[in-house]
Amino acid sequence: MAFRFKSMAIIAASVLAVISLGVVAATAQGSRPFGAAAVNKARHVNANSEPGTWMSAGRTYDEQRYSPLTQINTANVKDLGLAWFADINTDAKQEATPVIVDGVLYVSTNWSMVKAFNAKTGEKLWEWDPQVNRAEIGRISCCGTVNRGVAIWEGHVIASVLDGRLVSLDAKTGRVVWSTQTTPLADPYTITMTPRVANGKIFIGNAGAEYTVRGYVSAYDVKDGKLLWRFYTVPGNPNDPNNKDPEILKRYAATWKGEWWKFGGGATAWDTFVYDPQTNLVYFGTGNGLSWSQDIRSPGGGDNLFVSSIIALNADTGAYAWHFQETPGDEWDFDNTNPLMVADLTIHGRKRHVIMQAPKQAFYYVWDAKTGELLRADQYAPQNWAKSIDLKTGRPVENPAARYGVGRPAIVQPAALGAHNWHPMSFSPRTGWVYFSVTESTAGYGTQNPETFQVKTRANNTGVDRAAAAPLFAAPGAPRQGNIKSYLMAWNPSEGKEVWRVDNPVYGASGTMTTAGDLVFTGSAQGDFSAYNARNGQKLWSTSANARVEAAASSYMIDGVQYVAVLVGSSMPQGVVRTSTVSQNNSRLLVYKLGGTAKLPTTPVVTAGTTASPTGPVLDPPLYAGTNEDFIFGERQYGENCSGCHGLNGGGGSAPDLRYSRLLRDQAGFRAVVYGSRVNGGMPSFQGRMQQTDVDSVFQYIIRRANDEKQVQQAAGRGAGNGGAPGAAGAGRGGGRGGRGG
Ligand code: CA
Repeated sequence: MAFRFKSMAIIAASVLAVISLGVVAATAQGSRPFGAAAVNKARHVNANSEPGTWMSAGRTYDEQRYSPLTQINTANVKDLGLAWFADINTDAKQEATPVIVDGVLYVSTNWSMVKAFNAKTGEKLWEWDPQVNRAEIGRISCCGTVNRGVAIWEGHVIASVLDGRLVSLDAKTGRVVWSTQTTPLADPYTITMTPRVANGKIFIGNAGAEYTVRGYVSAYDVKDGKLLWRFYTVPGNPNDPNNKDPEILKRYAATWKGEWWKFGGGATAWDTFVYDPQTNLVYFGTGNGLSWSQDIRSPGGGDNLFVSSIIALNADTGAYAWHFQETPGDEWDFDNTNPLMVADLTIHGRKRHVIMQAPKQAFYYVWDAKTGELLRADQYAPQNWAKSIDLKTGRPVENPAARYGVGRPAIVQPAALGAHNWHPMSFSPRTGWVYFSVTESTAGYGTQNPETFQVKTRANNTGVDRAAAAPLFAAPGAPRQGNIKSYLMAWNPSEGKEVWRVDNPVYGASGTMTTAGDLVFTGSAQGDFSAYNARNGQKLWSTSANARVEAAASSYMIDGVQYVAVLVGSSMPQGVVRTSTVSQNNSRLLVYKLGGTAKLPTTPVVTAGTTASPTGPVLDPPLYAGTNEDFIFGERQYGENCSGCHGLNGGGGSAPDLRYSRLLRDQAGFRAVVYGSRVNGGMPSFQGRMQQTDVDSVFQYIIRRANDEKQVQQAAGRGAGNGGAPGAAGAGRGGGRGGRGG
């Protein structure tokens, strides 16, 4: 079925072109009342027959994020302009893909708020705030208080909430129909993923592997929020007579050592889920174990199933179908929770119905969707942890030097954020290629002393000692620590090879969307939203979003007009060429059409509890006053508590670059922010999690890193003391090589 629809889309796009698609879309829209969101099983399964609709996160169940619309295409995308925009009342980062059905655009934002807009005019129809206890839940959110999107089913909007709730909202009013707590409140679970709905069931996972949880996924009845089935991703205590694990989990308890169950074991399914009507399987990926370090998690090693794996379950019953562990005994936070996608490809001359993924650990995997047979595993980015993937066994041929332990530090590429993270990837059936952001990075690993390491619940427990690897990086010829470079890549999954890439001038990643107009839409860390020619990577259009663009776009058609929508928000890295003086986050929903004439305000979005900074940040740290030991202690604290959002060395993450913070000259103000003064903006409170001495050590650590950065910039001839000269950002960050368009 999926193949037939794709063939139709190709014919429609290339022969019948714009007008017929417009008519199809208008008919589909016109036959249903505005805002009905009457998306039932048949509409979801046949989503490709409604090119003007984007009815789920990935548009169709295969999650290809491909719009069959062609009104906006390579010839006219230069005329794309803003149709309307809406300010979002949080200044933290935004990761959700807007969903558009029956004339209404639904989107979730940071702090799990949901909003509905008239998709044509931008009129806000309703908004809903789940009233998350921000101080409490922010503290156990490893990587931002984000939400990646909502699902639609028969007049309801299904939303996940950071505190573990799953909620059904009336699509017309935003009123709560039912609400279910999917996680035990006593345990530090969070949810940031998009719920998926199929056959009247909602599939949902959770996050929190570093915070002492046991991963599991669940299916709920979309009618009333009742639990239908649950599948744990880590075995329970094998010696417990009350252990009710299914046989498969009992068997895999042998892949663990020690007493992993005491702290849950991790392996959370925190982002990707795909339902495939052809196999009736639901697929998801699992993340790291607790702790990252195997010396602590499972002393003596083992594969530790189902850490860092893909799992396929029967969608009706939750029964195990197959699994594939991409990173056995993972020690590097190589979550395999990155977007999964179903497609029909020709591989080695045979038509195959596949599921595929570009995981953190830098090999692009393609499996038979029904059986899990590994068809391809090709390296797509630089890495040093494995020589190759053995196609027969499916196991990596590991580089032993990448394993770390007590007294055995290691330099590992890629770093924990991975060569490709949660950022959605897209597929064009017209090219047969997949488009995604690639980031290159390197990190140091060592193990904290397993004898003295104490797991703290509701705190970060990686068990990693980054400072232990510092001498390795100091050695001559050692690789650069931290972020190296990033680019948009077109990848041929049938042949396992790169087709083209475009380097980013500033390090960062963003989701992608493709269209039948042969366009790839994606954003950037320097605050641009752009369209590229899907066939050769040529940049055809770009506009300033006045905020970092990390989320993926979606496209829809109403009354014969094609729109492109994208949610933006998150501070831009410093040293970036700005198109305005606005340095705020500017969380907004931006919607474009051909000939759109709306203008973004030059004044920043100011949300409650924050203040606008009109001039942009300044690299002007005080002198570092600490000792080397202070620095090492601060690096440890920073690595445990801050690096996930703010980047490895004080900057380069998706949260603000702390090296440029004005608070480096205001220690009391710095402490206040860490302890919750900006919690409404999205900065979690670390009250109860970090002692003041810990906070102060981080403060000093950042001051030293800011001085390091100032030296680098001075050596490169950049004036320190300002936001960085235009165009110099690449030099200071090791990025900035020219594109290599095809
Ligand atoms: Ca992880």
